[in-house]
Amino acid sequence: MPERDHSDLRDAAEGLLRALEEPKDPIKQVLVYRRDLKMRKGKIAAQVAHASMKVFFDRCEVQTSDGSDLGVEDEYWLDIPLTAEMAEWVRGLFTKIVLTVDSEEDLLRAKALADEAGIPTALITDAGRTEFKAKCEWCGGLGHIPDVMGAPICGYCEGTGKVSVPTNTAIAIGPAKASEIDKITGPEGTVPVRLP
Ligand SMILES: [Zn+2]
Repeated sequence: MPERDHSDLRDAAEGLLRALEEPKDPIKQVLVYRRDLKMRKGKIAAQVAHASMKVFFDRCEVQTSDGSDLGVEDEYWLDIPLTAEMAEWVRGLFTKIVLTVDSEEDLLRAKALADEAGIPTALITDAGRTEFKAKCEWCGGLGHIPDVMGAPICGYCEGTGKVSVPTNTAIAIGPAKASEIDKITGPEGTVPVRLP
């Protein structure tokens, strides 16, 4: 059946073309969060989402159609200078990989190594308003200062006995070439990471 043969040949040729088009060193973004903080799932999702966006927003300025910084125009856009790898990532599949580390030390080391390699990065420091609390040192966690007349609640912690502790929670590395990021967080990478 000559027609069948022809069709098989075409399928084979298309498969070969697809294989050639697939990039050998794809662009990806790696998001790393601290497992040791034992964050809630929703908190983790927020932190890695912050990190993914911050890589881009750190590079941009908000523009308005009248050219002013905070105009009253109804058109706004982001003007973000991109690396070639970022441009490719934005046009592609937005590949993201989420990994974990067991300490702040490893989180900051991974970021420092990426910075040294010239890979775009972002660090998320949570303000600690909802999690990451410590005992207020002014009132010893009592919420009030017993010896001070006329000060029924502690002004420092507003009577809660606890203060917010700004905490480094997550980083983004890339978008960049997978081979470059893998030197840091890959299976043979410098920083020990685990899947969530
Ligand atoms: Zn206090």
